[in-house]
Amino acid sequence: RCGYVALVGRPNVGKSTLLNALIGVRLSIVSHRPQTTRHRILGISSKPQGQILYVDTPGLHRGGKRAMNRSLNRAARAAITEVDLAVQVIEAGRWTDEDMTMYAALAEQKDMPKLLAINKVDLQKDKTAMLPFVADLMQKHPFDDVYYVSALKSKGLSGLEKGILKRL
Ligand code: GDP
Ligand code: MG
Repeated sequence: RCGYVALVGRPNVGKSTLLNALIGVRLSIVSHRPQTTRHRILGISSKPQGQILYVDTPGLHRGGKRAMNRSLNRAARAAITEVDLAVQVIEAGRWTDEDMTMYAALAEQKDMPKLLAINKVDLQKDKTAMLPFVADLMQKHPFDDVYYVSALKSKGLSGLEKGILKRL
């Protein structure tokens, strides 16, 4: 199994931290791998079950507020159409308008698996308090799977990777 995966989400949810925690091989800016998409590959996670190629998605990954305001720009939307799977990263216990905008863009890609990574769970003292939040979220914005992670403490990452590989 092998595929192109984008980590998307509004600024400050922990995408960069998560990416750093996930990738084993960091590629130089000019990659020698054949690129079947327009994306730049940021790093590779190699597991016995397969390889995940994490790609840069301009405007999604680091576009900041300007790109996220109102609707996503064209480049950002085009980027989503070219990946095999997207992981939307959010902060535990929080779902903002910007998160919603991102979800709406992902939802346009009907056949693309969409995973939710709820990050910063280390900041949640009472984990069960999150369950109603997640249940409510999934009812309105269905994802294919939900994962609880802490990018900072490297918690839940192998589960997320297994979930990604399962769907590639
Ligand atoms: P990005 O804008 O989505 O790329 O977010 P960053 O990776 O730059 O992280 C934003 C801030 O959140 C930084 O101060 C990180 O250290 C912090 N952060 C990221 N992941 C976690 C986490 O799992 N737990 C906690 N407590 N902080 C985190
Ligand atoms: Mg970042």
